Amino acid sequence: MPSSVANESQFRFQSSRSSRQSSCSSRSEPGATTPTSDVVDKALAELQLQSSSKSELLSTSSGKPQRFGWQIKPSKLSLNTHNRIRNIVESLKIKPNPEKPMIPLSIGDPTIFGNLKAADETMKAVLHSVESGKYNGYAHTQGHEAARQAVAKYSAHQRPNEEIDPMEVVLCSGCSSALEYCILALADRGQNVLIPRPGFCLYHTLAEGLDIEVRYYDLLPDQQWRADLVQLESLIDENTAALLINNPSNPCGSVFDEKHLRQLIGICERHYLPIIADEIYEHFVFPGSKHVAVSSLTTEVPVLSCGGLTKRFLVPGWRMGWIIVHDRKQRLVDAVVGLKNMCGRILGSNTLIQGALPEILAKTPQSYFDGVIDVLHSNATLAYKMLKQVRGLNPVMPNGAMYMMIGVDIERFPAFKDDTHFVQELVNEQSVFCLPGSCFEYPGYVRIVLTVPKTMIEEACARMTEFCDRHFKKDSRAFIEHGLLDEEDLAF
Ligand SMILES: *Cc1c(COP(=O)(O)O)cnc(C)c1O
Repeated sequence: MPSSVANESQFRFQSSRSSRQSSCSSRSEPGATTPTSDVVDKALAELQLQSSSKSELLSTSSGKPQRFGWQIKPSKLSLNTHNRIRNIVESLKIKPNPEKPMIPLSIGDPTIFGNLKAADETMKAVLHSVESGKYNGYAHTQGHEAARQAVAKYSAHQRPNEEIDPMEVVLCSGCSSALEYCILALADRGQNVLIPRPGFCLYHTLAEGLDIEVRYYDLLPDQQWRADLVQLESLIDENTAALLINNPSNPCGSVFDEKHLRQLIGICERHYLPIIADEIYEHFVFPGSKHVAVSSLTTEVPVLSCGGLTKRFLVPGWRMGWIIVHDRKQRLVDAVVGLKNMCGRILGSNTLIQGALPEILAKTPQSYFDGVIDVLHSNATLAYKMLKQVRGLNPVMPNGAMYMMIGVDIERFPAFKDDTHFVQELVNEQSVFCLPGSCFEYPGYVRIVLTVPKTMIEEACARMTEFCDRHFKKDSRAFIEHGLLDEEDLAF
């Protein structure tokens, strides 16, 4: 063994040296009295730019295209990868009112306000993992067996009548990477994936760089954000690779009931479509609602369920997510090979957290989760009650997750062009920052997070009330159209 390793490294050394030699000799070609190589590079690059038949000009005698000058281009994939939230937020002209402390209801990281903390049990588990000294090395690319076993057990509700095999669990670097693996394992360039609107913008970000088309199915605000089934079904064609469901939903805070999930399953069954279930908010439901895992309702339709520690355990920075493959009729056998290949790309997820997983999942007490839900539910109830009375706003009461969507009757606020403009001026006047619905492909709404301290929600809602009262105009659009009001009267 050692000798073959040595041989191999020797071989590598030789081959890299010989290739360097050849590149050196071609470098010195342009002239023995080379000024500086940079000047030469630049001149040649300019020449190349002027030339219409560059490959001819740059061919060597051997006919192999030459490389001249530094011309490093970003890949198409990287340039086609955009984070919509970042783009929209960065385009806002924001100058918070210095007299009012900023209340950011825009930030999806529940840990930043300090009111919600990870459980002691959760954090101790990581200490134990570090102290054991056993988790510094690489793991199996799918994750340590014990960690996968623990996730399988934790997720038993997803498949009530049959055990989940640890080999059906793939540990990933956060739920984001779980989603990426699923999309990449199922869809090729030119294919399409159905995603919800409004919906989490990451789905679009992950797909678009790879030329995987996203097709939006509509969620209906007046039907508790259930999917428009007819419209959804009309999007399906021979190139549709998967239906993505996000339940409970970010940004809606909605929770699909069993009946609706069965309707979605029915569509997938008719069209032979696998489901990617983003269930990062599983269990994250308010009293009176129940989360049903879509995989628990079907043996016909294969489901890739994506979850993780991020939201429920309030540790987004730990980057621990997972995929559970539910494939009762062996329809994903080939796709699962692809999925497992994907794990080889970054050689697996953080092993310290893998080492802690069994303890985290077993020991974090129910009372901790109940406490978090309590905070969110009471914030949701308070915000809903306050904002429901504001003219021009239509909050939709959530049943889970950490967000609330608020409809803005933009017609009633003629000073503002759209939801983005509304959000910008709300920051500038009141220092309250919501995310515009456009970030979720849903203009006409804004999203607030419910993870902030109660006093902050209360203050934010009071300021939003003041803001809306100030700008609300009854039938103003009609007045403008009939020339009864000048646009300028409305500008502030
Ligand atoms: C936060 C979130 C994720 C990403 O979770 P990470 O584990 O931080 O990658 C995925 N889906 C939805 C709907 C989310 O809100």
